[in-house]
Amino acid sequence: MASLNLIVENGQQPTFNEQHLMGIQIDRSQWSPRSQRTTGHYDEAATDYEGIRCRCRKCTRSFVFTAKEQQFAYEVEKRFVDYLPKHCKDCAIAQ
Ligand SMILES: [Zn+2]
Repeated sequence: MASLNLIVENGQQPTFNEQHLMGIQIDRSQWSPRSQRTTGHYDEAATDYEGIRCRCRKCTRSFVFTAKEQQFAYEVEKRFVDYLPKHCKDCAIAQ
């Protein structure tokens, strides 16, 4: 019998390392109309999202705004394409 082998420890979401998050294609048709009129982090030749290193304004640690998170922010939440998160995940959750 076939089954999915998702390992979920302590009820947490499965996590993926940065390598797995590379190579996510940019779908500009899903960007907000305002985003489509500019380029944000990506020029017209860019085809894939790439992790962007940011620094948390609260704890000052550096963190990666992953390709997957950018796809969600720009294509699902329709944020403007020069959006960057201000806080790392730990601080964002603590707020
Ligand atoms: Zn932080």
